[in-house]
Amino acid sequence: MLTIHNLSAGYGKVQVLHGISIDVPKGQVVTLIGSNGAGKTTTMRAVSGMIAPTGGEIHLNGKRIDGLEPYHIARLGLAHSPEGRRVFATMSVADNLLLGAFPRLTGSRPKGDVAADLEKAMALFPRLQERRTQLAGTLSGGEQQMLAMARAVMLNPEVVLLDEPSMGLAPILVDEVFRIIERLKAAGTTMLLVEQFAAAALAVADYGYVLENGRIAVHGRAEKLRNDPAVKAAYLGGG
Ligand code: ATP
Repeated sequence: MLTIHNLSAGYGKVQVLHGISIDVPKGQVVTLIGSNGAGKTTTMRAVSGMIAPTGGEIHLNGKRIDGLEPYHIARLGLAHSPEGRRVFATMSVADNLLLGAFPRLTGSRPKGDVAADLEKAMALFPRLQERRTQLAGTLSGGEQQMLAMARAVMLNPEVVLLDEPSMGLAPILVDEVFRIIERLKAAGTTMLLVEQFAAAALAVADYGYVLENGRIAVHGRAEKLRNDPAVKAAYLGGG
């Protein structure tokens, strides 16, 4: 579904990713693990077109997408829920969600029933349903994080990139975020997940990749990585 082959990317003269390859099969959850600064967010940005890759190829559903503009990549069905709650602060919750569906209306993919999908998203995120007319900028941090996730889902995407959906959330909301990821997975959503809670991410994922200094150090089935002594010691709290 999403294949990243030999991807290199960076900022100006600083190369962050040195030829990484990741395969995200249809209907599966793949998690990317790594320490701070390893290049996880840079990977997400390169896939969604927010930064231009300097090498390698990215294919979505067999179509080459590296080098395309972000709006074009979104139209092809790739949704990016970015790190740090980028919501439209002066618009209501419902309008933020409707904007998430906008690339469907301008692209060549099936447009579907946006109004029905809005109600589905509200059912998946009950906290947003309670606040649907509230301005997004007045939501709590955790609620904004959920809005960013829900907006990504509104694209009816082929693949969702979730960058640190639990960042800065109280433990009870972290649990809720992982429950929502489970539900999206049960609904067949293909996801690439970056999470600070590596053990929880590997528990929900089918496959995992460990990124170290812009290179893939280890990858494999999630349960295998969960039991790998080196991965446990470095990323899963040693347990
Ligand atoms: P974290 O877990 O801390 O979010 P990460 O694995 O997501 O880390 P990235 O955000 O991809 O890491 O950053 C990788 C490297 O790229 C870091 O050294 C960072 O300082 C650098 N970097 C990130 N964004 C920029 C930018 N806009 N300009 C220059 N350098 C950047």
